[in-house]
Amino acid sequence: MLTPTKWTALGAAAVLALAACGSDDGAAEVEEVEAGEFPEGSTMAELAEAGEITIGTKFDQPLFGLQAPSGAPEGFDVEIAKIIAGELGIDEGGIEWVETVSANREPFIVDGTVDMVVATYTINDERKEVISFAGPYYIAGQSLMTLADNDEIEGPEDLAGMSVCSVEGSTPAANIAENYPDAELSLFAAYTDCLEPLRNGQVDVVTTDNVILAGYVAESEDTDVPFKIVGEQFTDEPYGIGVAREDDEFRNWINDVLEEIFEDGRWLEAWNETAGTVLPEPEVPTVDRYETE
Ligand code: GLU
Repeated sequence: MLTPTKWTALGAAAVLALAACGSDDGAAEVEEVEAGEFPEGSTMAELAEAGEITIGTKFDQPLFGLQAPSGAPEGFDVEIAKIIAGELGIDEGGIEWVETVSANREPFIVDGTVDMVVATYTINDERKEVISFAGPYYIAGQSLMTLADNDEIEGPEDLAGMSVCSVEGSTPAANIAENYPDAELSLFAAYTDCLEPLRNGQVDVVTTDNVILAGYVAESEDTDVPFKIVGEQFTDEPYGIGVAREDDEFRNWINDVLEEIFEDGRWLEAWNETAGTVLPEPEVPTVDRYETE
């Protein structure tokens, strides 16, 4: 194996990136990246040199991360992740996608299963104890989804005695458990596990972020049992990109990339091609370069 020093000497001369190929959307176009442009020994330099990155995302959430028949996921999170990889000179062929569910995101970052997580991942203080977040790159909010013909539930204040489905390790589940203790909460590994129970009446409500629910509502529209979102969003869920806790260099660099794509139109283009087909155009968020103790 090459040491970082030796590698930098070689890498400075080497052009690592492949030209953009097969990308018809422009959002994930890969520029040529000089290996030597990243600080020696940084995660960016290591990934750029390897030409490979492992990214955790959701596989069952339309609009943000949904596995396509080809096996590769699609959605806004996926586009954001591809742009970041592209800035390292890594094209789609160099990305290994790993399905992350809500509860295994921190463990997968900590144990190195993935280099980063882009997966409808709310930035919060508890998670910041374990990993670090770049972003936010979008702000969602918790909502409720019922069958379209349900007229009993209009907001979280109606959840007492209701059977509510959500996901282990998610902020919406924690919020229900803490603030709406009279709801009967059932937790599964992934949000799609809640859909059949909702359809057949085993649960009354599914709760998570509005934008995830919006994907399931859109998918259900032409079925015999359509869903609807009820009420307003009742939390803020700022979406961040999870990286190793101590890796401030990588976090700062991703924040730089986010600020650049907020500015140059690539963020909005990624949105319009994915979640923007169903959801309204969001305001550009402000990156939070918080200090870690
Ligand atoms: N954004 C929330 C979270 O990170 C809910 C969505 C999810 O579970 O991915 O917990």
